[in-house]
Formats: sequence, structure tokens, C-alpha cells
Amino acid sequence: MIEIQLPDGTVVSHPDDATPLSVANAIGSRLAKAVIAAQVGTVVIDANRPLKSFSNGSPIPLRLLTERDPESLDVLRHSSAHIMARAVMRLFPEVSLAFGPTISNGFYYDFHMPHKLTEEDFGKIEQEMASIIAKSEPFEQFSLDRNQAVLLCQDMKQELKVEHIQSGLANHSELGFYRQGEFVDLCRGPHIPDAGRVKAFKIMSVAGSHWKGNMSGPQLQRLYGTAWFDKKDLQSHLDQLEEAKKRDHRVLGKKLGLYQITPDVGQGMCLWMPKGARVRSLLEDFLRREMLKRGYEPVYSPHLGRVELYETSGHFPYYRDSQFPPLFVHDAGALVDAWARRLGEDQDFSPQQETMFLQAAEVLGFDAAVYTKAESKEAKIAALNEWQRNHERFLVKPMNCPHHAQIFKAQPRSYRDLPLRLFEFGTVYRYEQTGELNGMLRVRGLTQDDAHIFCTADQVEEEFRNTIELTRFVLESVGLQDYRVQLSLRDPKSDKYVGSEENWQKAEAALRKVLEESGLNFNTAEGEAAFYGPKADFMVRDCIGRHWQLGTVQLDYNLPERFQLEYTGADNKSHRPVMIHRAPFGSMERFVGMLIEHFAGAFPMWLAPEQIRICPLSEKTNDYAGELEKRFIEAGFRVTTDLRGAKVQAKIRDAQLDLIPYMAVVGPKEAETRSIALRDRISGELGTKPLEEVFEMLSQEVASRQIRQVAERKFTEPPAATETSSHEY
Ligand SMILES: [Zn+2]
Ligand SMILES: [Zn+2]
Repeated sequence: MIEIQLPDGTVVSHPDDATPLSVANAIGSRLAKAVIAAQVGTVVIDANRPLKSFSNGSPIPLRLLTERDPESLDVLRHSSAHIMARAVMRLFPEVSLAFGPTISNGFYYDFHMPHKLTEEDFGKIEQEMASIIAKSEPFEQFSLDRNQAVLLCQDMKQELKVEHIQSGLANHSELGFYRQGEFVDLCRGPHIPDAGRVKAFKIMSVAGSHWKGNMSGPQLQRLYGTAWFDKKDLQSHLDQLEEAKKRDHRVLGKKLGLYQITPDVGQGMCLWMPKGARVRSLLEDFLRREMLKRGYEPVYSPHLGRVELYETSGHFPYYRDSQFPPLFVHDAGALVDAWARRLGEDQDFSPQQETMFLQAAEVLGFDAAVYTKAESKEAKIAALNEWQRNHERFLVKPMNCPHHAQIFKAQPRSYRDLPLRLFEFGTVYRYEQTGELNGMLRVRGLTQDDAHIFCTADQVEEEFRNTIELTRFVLESVGLQDYRVQLSLRDPKSDKYVGSEENWQKAEAALRKVLEESGLNFNTAEGEAAFYGPKADFMVRDCIGRHWQLGTVQLDYNLPERFQLEYTGADNKSHRPVMIHRAPFGSMERFVGMLIEHFAGAFPMWLAPEQIRICPLSEKTNDYAGELEKRFIEAGFRVTTDLRGAKVQAKIRDAQLDLIPYMAVVGPKEAETRSIALRDRISGELGTKPLEEVFEMLSQEVASRQIRQVAERKFTEPPAATETSSHEY
């Protein structure tokens, strides 16, 4: 017999061959029918997997997963990837399978095949999937040793799987497969009990990809799909996508004159047009004021730093692939750098190639004396690196932190100076892959609303509380009320972390305490912390139900160590400060891009680039309109006047299309009574009001940062799945 502990704490005994399904059956046949998969500890497993392998003396903690558990959706979607692959193999010849993981809201499968998939194939594939689902065949797991696994994959002509077993899975002695009818796939699972559990699915799109992401590897076709337990959920998801399309910030950004990306300036580089720049500067001013109130100090730092600075911080060469290449002041710099890297990559070079390198480098002014004396490869690399250190190299900054660490270090610090909170809207540059770029959301030059707090270990709790409070305030000020916090903690079993055990324990306890006291909706993720410290991320849901990771607060024990930061304590001894990185917006580009979609381009009064449009009835009231414009500007409003000879109805229509919050319609009657026929973009005519009353009302709306524009959620929210997962080995 084995002992199983259910989520309510009760321990039950079951025969040795018990599976989650048999445990469910013992509770009730209704439950058994509803079981999709199960969870033992943190591992999700098949409903028919024997539980005995998990016994280790204490009762096995078992949770049965039904359609209601978010983990089930992931299992359903991955299983749907198998079903889709099976359908594709039935329809097209010579299909070689790569990987079929889940992603947020769906799944994909990568295929290597001669037929080029297009949207016209989707209907056929969906039909084939439907007939597979209708048969409700089970997913059956079996294991093979390495040799048999390779033979089976060869037999099935699955060359990519053979390669994966031989390279990526070289240290696995046994490999798992799943069979579903005639379809067999190398997979670690888990899956739904049978194909009939898929109640709603759709193929979404197809795109190109590469085997294991390697650009020089075989070109694959990635077919995307989505699957749900309920047709209503699928429909709701499709509605959400439709709504998202209407709000696409790339379309609205261009139409409303907010930002541009031009081929001449380059991909991933935002040009902020006057209206977008207005929104950004309003947000920056708002945050700057708040930070000054809360004891932050503004600093500025250059867009470049010496390569050595980032070697000290660890950002170079470790993250080199995602950075712009260094700027070499010496002509031979790039050549010497390239040669040193090739040597370091263990590439073999012929003596002729080395001679060619030396000749070219010497033409450019490289002094080869030390290099030519070096015999081993290591000595040669050292000689090249030494030469580099004697010549200036700069990096366009990928991070602001090293600069701020230098500001801390620039003078002696005492415990009385702490906490020291330095902030900067700092622009950083990352070399994102072209395929990853996405309007303002994924760019190559971005401005972080960055700050670094240097404090003592005892101050961590208070500083964390303040940053959480600031982030909440900032998000709620733009109408983002719906969010939760993810607290990422250490994996207690791992030893990859820097910083003392005592500091980690203290910090994690402090962070947890602050979040508990804050009343915020939060969850903890063990093992998700960076090696240098725990962190908290704000996961925000926008008005159409999409999730965005925005503000972040991150503790850091690593950089103070690397930069040898110190302060003198009350005990007159030298101590290491803790560093906190935090950014409530994240980056201005991404945040504004997200806001455009959240508001569908209709910014609330306090953020609108143009708040009021004055629409004179005819030329006769142009003078009054001009006077009015002056008074609005003096009162601090952003206002324009439509002086075209057009009918007032046309002026109002255009102002509505430009998403301007208020229209001031004025004719001879209004001019005479010093009043405005006020129109609201949302509720229409508000009647004729005296000037002073309008000023008062609109000023109030700006000062209170009122949000009225957000569209209501029109559809029920589909259930959310857990994080994406690969299912492959
Ligand atoms: Zn699978
Ligand atoms: Zn930082």
C-alpha cells in the first residue's frame, strides 16, 4: 500500500498500483471523469501515471486537476499540439517534427516539411483535428532506452528527434514517448487522458522558425493554435484578439501622431512625435514630482561608459549578444577584438590566417610585439586583452546601474547618508533581434524610469515598502487598478546565490511581510529570484483583460560587491550597502505603448496631448475663439482652435476622431455672454456654461487625474493558463 495526502490534509491508503485516476475514482466517479491531470508537489503528471515512483517514506502530496485548475489548460494545449501534429502528418508527406510547446493563450508545433503551409490549409487541418478528437483515443506513455529510442525515431523518419536525442539529451539513459493512435512522439508529457477532452480549438497562424533557434540550422514552419475547455472561452479569446487589433498601438501611434519608426533612423528606434512626447513628458513630470517628494535625488549620466565599467559590473561580455558592439577609439580595436573572440571560441586557425590578421592589424597601428612572443592560445588572448585595456573602448550603455554605482562611490559615504536614492530617466540600448522588435513594446533604445536605492540591510524593509507604495500610486494614477505582485524568491536547494544567507533570509522575510501588510494580491515564486537578489514584479491587467509585466523592484547583493561599494557604519567600521533597482513604469516606450492600447488612444484629460478643441460656429466668432484659446493656455490647458471655414458639425466630428476629451463650441451668443457650449467626447453636449465654471470643472478633472475614458470590459474573461512550458526534454 502507498499513502497519499490530499490537499485538505487527509491521508489515505491506496494499492501499490494507484494512479491519480484511481484515487479520484475512490472519491467518486464524477470526479474521475473530470480529472485532466494531477500534481505531485510542484510536478504536473498524467492522470494515469502510477504514483508509487513518488513515494519516499512520507505520504505523497497529491492534487487532482480538473478543468477549473489553470494548470490543466497548459496540459490541454500541449496535448492539442500533438493532435495538430498528427493531423498535419496525415495531410502532408515527409513531415519531420521539431518541438510543440505551449505559449500564453495557446501552443505551436514546429515542422520541417516540403509543403509550405498557408492559411488555406488551416480549415483542412482543423477538420482532421476534429475527427481525431471525435475518436477520443487515449494518450499512452511508454519509455525506451537510448538505443531503442533512436531506432524508433529513425524508423519513423524523425531525423530532428534523432538529432535531439543524440545531442540535447545525451545524458538521458531512458526516454519517454506518447502514443495516440498511429501518432508517436518523443515527449516528457504530461497530457490529457484522451483527445476527447479538447472542446474548442482553432489554428491561428503560421510563421517561419529555425531548429533550436539556430539561424543557420534547418528552416522550420511554426503553426500556432489555441485550445480551450469551453467554446465560450475560445470565443471570448477571439473577441479579445479582435479588440486588441483595434487598439494596436502601432496603428494608433501612427494615426494619432504619437510616434514613428523610420527605416532611415533604424529599426527599434522610436521617434517621439510632438503628441507622443507630450504624453511622455507629462508622465515623467508626474513621476519626477512624486520622487522628489519621496526623498529621491535626480542625477544624470552619459549614454556611454568604458567597457571596463561593464566588465566590473558583469554586463560585459556576458550579455554581449544583446548589446550594440563596443566603440573602439583605436582603428585596430575591432579587429583585435574579433580575433581575441575567435581564439576564445576555440576555433582553429591556420598560421596563414594568423599572419593575415597580424598584417592587417599592424597596418591599422597594432603593436604586435607582446602577441608574437606569446606561445599558448591563452597567452595570445591575454596579450590582445592587455592591448585593449591600454586603448579606450566604450559601450553604449545597456544599463544605468554601473553609472549610479559610480555616483555612490564618488565620495565617502556614512550610514547617515543612507538611504541614498538616485533617479534618472536613463536611456539604454539593447540589440534586440529584428524578429523580436514590436513597435514601442520591444525597442532597441529605451528610457527607463530608473532609480537605485543604496541602503543598509536594516533599511531594506522600509525602502521596499516605499517603492511598492510608489509603484501602486503610479499605476493607479493612470487607471491601472487591476494587478497583482509576483514575489520571486530563492530556490532553497540551490547554492547559486550571492550575498550572505542571513541577508537573504532577512530580505525575503521583509519583502513578504511588506506585501502581506499591504493587502496586495500577491503570489510567491520560489526559485524565480535572480542570483543576486529577490524581486517583486507588478503584473497588470489592462481593460481588455491582457496581462502586462510592468513595475519592478529588485534587491541586489552583487553589484555593491563587484563595485566594492562601502559606507562607514555607526560602529566606525566599513560596511557593504544593499542596492535596490526599481522602475514603476519599466520603460517609457513600453509603458506609453501599453497605455495607447489600454486607452485605445483616448488618453484621459490629465494625459491627453490635446485636451480641448475650440470650434467657432463661423468666422464671426473667431475673435472670441482666439481670446478663449489664450485664456485656456494661460490656465495651463493644452488647446487648439479649428479655424477652418467648415461647418461646426464637421469640426466636432474631426475632434471626436482625434479623441480630444472636450470641445468648446462658440457662436455669437456665447461670445456675448462669455460662455462656452461644452461638449464631452464621451457623453456629448453638456450645455452652455460660464467660462469660470468650465475652467473650474476641467482643472478639477486634471488635478484629480480622473480616468473616464477606459472602455468597459465587454466580454467575460477567459480562464488564464499557468506560465508557458516546453514539455520537451
Ligand atoms: Zn507531449
Ligand atoms: Zn539597475
